[in-house]
Amino acid sequence: MFKQKYDVAVIGAGIAGIATCHALQQAGAGKIVLVESGSPLSLTSDKSTECYRNFWPGPDSSMAALMSQSIDRIHQFTAESNNRFQLHQRGYVFATAQLSQVEALEQQALLNERYGGGVLRHYGNNTKNSEYHLSPKVGFEKTLDGADLITYPELIRRHFPYLSKDTVGVLHVRRCGVLSAQQFGMYLLDEVREQGADLVSGEFTGVQTKGGKLSSIEVKMDVGNVAIDCDALVLCTGPHLKATALLAGTDLPVEVEKHVKISINDKLQVIPRDAPLIVWNDPLDLCWAEEERELLASSEETRFLTETFPAGVHGRPVGAGNTVYIYWTYDSESQQVPTFPIEPVPYYPEILLRGMARMVPGLRNYLEAMPKPVVDGGYYTKVADNRPLIGPLDVPGTFVAGAYSGYGIMASYAGGELAAAHVMGDALPDYAPAFEASRFSNPEYLEKLSGLVASGQI
Ligand SMILES: Cc1cc2nc3c(=O)[nH]c(=O)nc-3n(C[C@H](O)[C@H](O)[C@H](O)COP(=O)(O)OP(=O)(O)OC[C@H]3O[C@@H](n4cnc5c(N)ncnc54)[C@H](O)[C@@H]3O)c2cc1C
Repeated sequence: MFKQKYDVAVIGAGIAGIATCHALQQAGAGKIVLVESGSPLSLTSDKSTECYRNFWPGPDSSMAALMSQSIDRIHQFTAESNNRFQLHQRGYVFATAQLSQVEALEQQALLNERYGGGVLRHYGNNTKNSEYHLSPKVGFEKTLDGADLITYPELIRRHFPYLSKDTVGVLHVRRCGVLSAQQFGMYLLDEVREQGADLVSGEFTGVQTKGGKLSSIEVKMDVGNVAIDCDALVLCTGPHLKATALLAGTDLPVEVEKHVKISINDKLQVIPRDAPLIVWNDPLDLCWAEEERELLASSEETRFLTETFPAGVHGRPVGAGNTVYIYWTYDSESQQVPTFPIEPVPYYPEILLRGMARMVPGLRNYLEAMPKPVVDGGYYTKVADNRPLIGPLDVPGTFVAGAYSGYGIMASYAGGELAAAHVMGDALPDYAPAFEASRFSNPEYLEKLSGLVASGQI
């Protein structure tokens, strides 16, 4: 049961809140209460595709540096827990059938190299196979980073025989992989509770202040409304960040975007069970028979299915069976307030399977009788620059670690450490200002933002 006085209250037991509690404990923050209105890790953090990467665009190295720190920690916990959360660092493979995209991938990898993501290596014609270093199937390899750009067709076919035959280039980014997000979160939550944090079931409904500074939070519990005294509050409320920040006295420029993924049973194991995450880097047209295409084009409702879709469909094998995740952020509409449950998107499974079949033609085997997909998803909580919000809010004593968009599993630990440093008044890393909410009150930053091209969203 909770006590009446805490040093820090963290709201939200998704991955962000749990990681923040853990980091606060490591920083010696004292007695912590974690307040959750639902079940831990069940709103967004168990809906992800569970991938991580140190491959981030600009406009500066802040995202790359935050992610690199987070991956260091995730790898550390992998080793300490004897890989309880089944991490493997098989990399992200970006594949393309367009020579112009090979060049674009090279430019991205060079930028990533500049931001500290490791060197770019080239594998052109007649490269010896032995020069290309495969990833570990399980676990991680400490020194494996940077990226390999492969344009030698024989090498592409040998290592990625399931990719479309017209693939002309593959960028294999190496300090990337996947993990069980639920298990990772539970590992941290177990540690947090062992170290003495209290997990309280209730809904955060507001704050009280003394002398302009936070003095307590209000929580609606089964027993009624309770005030919990605390010196600091960190909001990690995922898609409810906008509403909860208002309750804490700050209006944040946050929106949410619905995103849904599918899981299918790849009973033919078209995608090998030890494959990395594979991403098709080109815009594409879904494959239809001529009569199907004509029929779809003739109706206003379905015409979009015959139009070109943007790049980025991706997928990967999951776990020990034959499950494959497929995911594509081709259609991202923002809204202010999240609504639950997540409504299915019409035609979505068919679009994903047909999109993925452009990259992995063997998946066409499933088009006639599509395996019944499992569809789930949640919200990306985002601000305009697609970077997180980490740092102080308007009322002294209140902080945020949220707006983790589509990268919260991978970023939350370093984000939690940064939030802890803010709470404790400790020295901050160089990347700290890039994530403070106050950047949105800076006209120069807003001006810079209007010219931002790449958001890093895959
Ligand atoms: C389809 C999809 C694919 C994704 N793929 C990836 C990926 O491959 N890699 C990656 O790193 N990330 C990925 N993400 C993003 C990642 O899942 C999120 O960024 C992350 O889970 C956000 O965690 P969170 O703790 O901020 O939010 P949540 O997990 O939503 O947790 C917030 C918690 O706060 C609680 N809460 C809210 N309001 C209150 C209140 N008033 N009182 C008490 N409790 C409250 C909620 O109940 C909830 O438990 C993906 C997301 C989606 C939707």
